[in-house]
Amino acid sequence: MSEELKPCPFCNDGTDDLSIRGDSDECYVQCDPCGTRGPYRARGIGDSQYDKAVAAWNTLSCRLPWTREKPTVEGMYWYKESDNISMAVEVFRERVFFTNGTSADGELLYHMPGYDFDLSVDESKGLWAGPIPEPEEE
Ligand SMILES: [Zn+2]
Repeated sequence: MSEELKPCPFCNDGTDDLSIRGDSDECYVQCDPCGTRGPYRARGIGDSQYDKAVAAWNTLSCRLPWTREKPTVEGMYWYKESDNISMAVEVFRERVFFTNGTSADGELLYHMPGYDFDLSVDESKGLWAGPIPEPEEE
């Protein structure tokens, strides 16, 4: 592993309880005691995928104030629902393509690690914090 993991921003309690989860499609760092999940990384396989998940986790900032106000711009955010598990999610604007060849901006969506589908920010019921620093893409 090329980069050492930094402690969980919510527990700040060392790195012993952090694990790297995922499969061949996506990969993320998880803090087992509090359930916080870092940004998912879908590209690449094997060790390079792990390195990207670690680098993405390490760019996360410290604790931010939680708000019920939903994101209005794209970026990385902390998101948690009533089960109190914080996740770093990517918020991005959907692009809608019409049959006449034109396209338009759709609604804001977010992707949670471990889920196969994107969710609507407008319909989210949890708390948001952010934006947090964007993990660097190579
Ligand atoms: Zn934690």
